[in-house]
Amino acid sequence: MERSLFCPICLNELKDPLRTLKCKHVFCGYCIKKWLQVKASCPMDRNAVVIKDLSPLFSYNDERLTSPIIENLLECNGIYFHPNIIWNMRFPSGKPAKCTALHVAARQGNLEICQVLVSKGATVDALDSENGTALHFAAFKGNLEICQLLLSKGATVDAIDLENWTALQIAASEGYLEFCQLLVSKGAI
Ligand SMILES: [Zn+2]
Ligand SMILES: [Zn+2]
Repeated sequence: MERSLFCPICLNELKDPLRTLKCKHVFCGYCIKKWLQVKASCPMDRNAVVIKDLSPLFSYNDERLTSPIIENLLECNGIYFHPNIIWNMRFPSGKPAKCTALHVAARQGNLEICQVLVSKGATVDALDSENGTALHFAAFKGNLEICQLLLSKGATVDAIDLENWTALQIAASEGYLEFCQLLVSKGAI
């Protein structure tokens, strides 16, 4: 897998990343909040920053995911990263997770971003920290076009995650009949 991203403050892997509003620098949430208690400026360029200027790069539940988010996913602290970069984030339950941008876009049902990421070389069968693929994530949302896109790029239809779920089982449990039919037509059992 591709390397992870590092926090300029603690020099460790970024955890729960937060981005500054204007200069768009990215730090661990914990690190930048602690920093701002002492100094109300960005550690990278001394731009004025207060806590309310910080925002998550993205979240699983953000339905307003739009094209500029791609830039956030691919560019961090002025450095361009390959789409297969692994991000530290959290599931809605609060459990730590690692996944790629394609997982996030598939989970959110954002076809446009999935297309851009795939065109930039995102690996369709990249695994998250639970061995879930983008197809697993797409099955939570039931977007047929994303399912078609992933399968057309060679996604494994019967991948099994650490909890022994396939995309078909997830789609069935969510009640996405057409999504299930599409998977079955591509060989899912
Ligand atoms: Zn840090
Ligand atoms: Zn900055």
